[in-house]
Amino acid sequence: MPELPEVQAHAERLTEQFHGAVLSKFVPITFTALKTATPPPSDAYGTALDDVGRRGKYLLLRFPTVTFAVHLMQGGRLLVDDKQSAKPRNGQARFVFDDGPALLLTEAGKERRAGVWALAPGTEEDTAPLNRLGPEALAFTPETLAAPFAAHPMRLHGFLRDQHQIAGLGRRLANEICHRAKLSPFASTGKLGVEGATTVVDAIHATVEEGLAYERTRPDMSSSADRPGAVHGRVGEACPVCGDTIRAVSYSSYTVAYCPTCQTAGKVLADNTTSKFLK
Ligand SMILES: [Zn+2]
Repeated sequence: MPELPEVQAHAERLTEQFHGAVLSKFVPITFTALKTATPPPSDAYGTALDDVGRRGKYLLLRFPTVTFAVHLMQGGRLLVDDKQSAKPRNGQARFVFDDGPALLLTEAGKERRAGVWALAPGTEEDTAPLNRLGPEALAFTPETLAAPFAAHPMRLHGFLRDQHQIAGLGRRLANEICHRAKLSPFASTGKLGVEGATTVVDAIHATVEEGLAYERTRPDMSSSADRPGAVHGRVGEACPVCGDTIRAVSYSSYTVAYCPTCQTAGKVLADNTTSKFLK
């Protein structure tokens, strides 16, 4: 899934290419693509795109009268669409402009969860889905992170992925941030305190900035395997910091990857999947 660095760099590329483009129509290609009833997308017809911003993992296409929030979910992309074919592959919705290419929301796979929310400018933060987001990942200080850490004791990896607590991070960045912070993905946030929060804030910044620096060199959004990192997607490989073997705890829809030497004092965490098979 595209996370903060991928979405942010994509927003910057789209702003550069589409700033000032006048919307002629918004075309939902599937029934599920447009998630809102008001304001109608037509309120933005004939107006020029101010810019493309980001909130959490949402792209925000900002017109004077409507802000379109776009979520890519797992396999979605917002693609520059030169052809504008009648039946685009994996097409979900299309923004058509008076001149130049369109923007096509696609989603690979069968889940069909990517979508577009039309929001009234000025009310975005008070309206679903953005009203459910916690503060931006890069906005935290050790003190402002220590407070929800203490108030919501949970596993660090789960906290980092929880968009209600902290917006913009996903499974990959959660893995990388825990590794960089040298903390177990299963460490309880309730025990980290301001000192632990300081370590995590530093790791968030370093990890997100590394991802952004890489993503900004690209002409388009990276795929997961291309993204920089030490542990995510590298199970069985050597840790670049200490040389230990990267291990994993697997769940049905994702994998927590970590280095025992760097993060758990050498302890190998119980793998749910494996232990279940052994029973
Ligand atoms: Zn290591």
